[in-house]
Amino acid sequence: MSQADSIGALTLNLLGRKFRQGRPLFAPPAQSVRSYGAAYAEIWFPSGGCHFDAKGECTMCNYGRSRKVSAATMIEAVRAGLASLPIIPKTLWVSAFNVLDDREVSPEARRGIFAVLETTPVERVLLETHPLSVTTEKIQELQALIPGKSLGIELGIETMADFARKWCINKQLTKQEIRHAIATIQAAGAIPYVNLLIGTPFLSAAECLRETRASIEALLALGVRDICLFPTHVKEFTVVEQLARLNLYQPLPLWALVELLVSVPPETRCSLYYAWVTDVDHPGKPVSIPPRTGAEVYADVVSLLYAYLATRDDEQIARLAALRTPCRDEFCTRLAQKPASPLPQRILEGVEALCGSALPGHFERYKQEIIQEITNDWEIACQETHHQLC
Ligand code: SF4
Repeated sequence: MSQADSIGALTLNLLGRKFRQGRPLFAPPAQSVRSYGAAYAEIWFPSGGCHFDAKGECTMCNYGRSRKVSAATMIEAVRAGLASLPIIPKTLWVSAFNVLDDREVSPEARRGIFAVLETTPVERVLLETHPLSVTTEKIQELQALIPGKSLGIELGIETMADFARKWCINKQLTKQEIRHAIATIQAAGAIPYVNLLIGTPFLSAAECLRETRASIEALLALGVRDICLFPTHVKEFTVVEQLARLNLYQPLPLWALVELLVSVPPETRCSLYYAWVTDVDHPGKPVSIPPRTGAEVYADVVSLLYAYLATRDDEQIARLAALRTPCRDEFCTRLAQKPASPLPQRILEGVEALCGSALPGHFERYKQEIIQEITNDWEIACQETHHQLC
């Protein structure tokens, strides 16, 4: 039985689908761009949506639900996006959710988009995709379409801890599959970018930071040099939102990202990026709560975070480290708090509460199987040398 077919995954998927019900369908705009100057810009192009979202995966994710679009519409969105950028950047992120997934972006659409990109002075094209959709053939085909440019492939893995990815994030993917995807990208001559989540449900604040640091170390050991940290936003129509309603999820403040940046060595920090630090507008955006700090320092924290990204000057980190406010002290207190129970128990309580009115009778019916599975997974996790959650 694969991880994706396990009772834990099936239960989490049912919950994910249940809570996504009722999302309004949005009509994709003709183009959607974000420009950050000469270094970097983003062009989002529409697709029929992420298949993992439709399946119910990813407890924190809701990028909205759009109708299916043709290859011609995708290509035109990239063309129109390029035309509307104030400046063509060195690195251009051009993406839907899973660009290498043929169910979402057909080979015809990919070829058309890359033919458009080939005519631009962009030096690096960056696309996002699910690790399971990565193949040597697809990467090599795209690279051949943009001679002289480099290709970055961004993978949303969220964590290197299988237990947390399966039970807390419901991304049904193993570390072996992640390693394989990264090695495939590297062997094909492209550059792996990896996204990690800060604010995984069910983890305490200290566990979140420990686990993220361990994931960063594991990725650096695999030769990944571009690691992007994503603070969790509480989005409407997600499992995370339901957990927050049940008082079983407390969002991490922006201090978590600050703490992480402050706590890693400068040579590690150079490999770290971050995104979704503030509220982000995008097509199909649901009601969301971004990570916060107290109002009195919010602008300073955000501005110092962006200043560090732009300059890589450790002075900005020193200034962040020196900021002292009641909300920072509150977060430090939270970091020192020990969780009330072991992680598997917190998850079981959460899953039972989520099933409550959403899936009546489900938890009671499968309780023993779910307990058996989470106990087995936990035993395996605790045998891992780098494991930070036991
Ligand atoms: S996090 Fe990525 S894979 Fe998961 S549902 Fe969202 S877009 Fe899809």
